[in-house]
Amino acid sequence: AKRSGRNTLYFYDPAMQAVLEARLQMETDLRLALEEKQFCLYYQPQVDNEGNVVGAEALIRWMCPTKGLIPPGDFIPLAEEAGLIVPIGNWVLNAACRKLKAWENSALTSRLQLAVNVSARQFHQDDFVRQVLDAIATNNVRRGSLKLELTESLILDNVDSAVEKMNALGDAGVRFSMDDFGTGYSSLSYLTQLPLHQLKIDQSFVHKMLDRSVNAVIVQTIIGMANNLEIEVIAEGVETMEQFRFLKDLGCPLFQGYHFGKPVPEKEFEKALSSSPRA
Ligand code: C2E
Ligand code: CA
Ligand code: CA
Ligand code: CA
Repeated sequence: AKRSGRNTLYFYDPAMQAVLEARLQMETDLRLALEEKQFCLYYQPQVDNEGNVVGAEALIRWMCPTKGLIPPGDFIPLAEEAGLIVPIGNWVLNAACRKLKAWENSALTSRLQLAVNVSARQFHQDDFVRQVLDAIATNNVRRGSLKLELTESLILDNVDSAVEKMNALGDAGVRFSMDDFGTGYSSLSYLTQLPLHQLKIDQSFVHKMLDRSVNAVIVQTIIGMANNLEIEVIAEGVETMEQFRFLKDLGCPLFQGYHFGKPVPEKEFEKALSSSPRA
């Protein structure tokens, strides 16, 4: 420790220093990335029980000129802490709505729904509803085609405010999916009070359901509950034919995962659609 000035004592730890510098550098790089439009969206198909593509999830990627393609797990957490998730999230919303508008004009894609991830900090902004409404209006997005994926903890932060925002957006035709469902603490009674259209079964249950029967029971319970409550349900992280069959037999109507397609750039997604048996 060094003594600086009269009373301040500070510690110098080179390892800690390196971590802090790397974070600062990334923050600077992220700001630049926003300015220079280095982000893009990848699209992963969502299919019905016959394998027809009915929608997609938009997943952000950072095309860094020096480090190459960076997955969201490597920069979203820092973007959240630094508050940069707000402008990044708004970019994602607008890019997704532009894509929906472009899809409207093609027979192949006109009925696709597009799901967009929303982070807590973004959702809790005072002008969140306004930002979404603007993106929808600017791009003339058809009712029911934009779906926002929210997590349970985001909603639980402030249930009343969340419901108010969801209702305001619901009036404009926005749909809501609860992401990573099953990992939190949802109770049945409170689920019915939320204006939700879809539950998304977390991939951890799907990956383990054929090995550990407790996971199969959880998956079965979520599907049964959703079907009874008339909330749509989708299983994510479906990687094998066996998982697909198992979920289908439990009455799961919608699926997403590597078995049907990995997240890919827009051109590739659209090309795959045109060559799939029935989109
Ligand atoms: P998530 O919303 O739970 O997205 C699902 C993640 O699982 C994606 O990772 C996807 O590529 C991956 N995945 C899909 N199918 C399979 C599968 O069959 N097996 C396995 N092992 N993985 C599969 P990705 O694209 O790296 O995204 C990671 C997380 O980053 C997302 O988790 C989401 O929380 C966040 N994220 C992505 N895009 C955005 C965004 O635009 N805004 C915000 N706020 N967060 C985003
Ligand atoms: Ca998601
Ligand atoms: Ca998820
Ligand atoms: Ca997740």
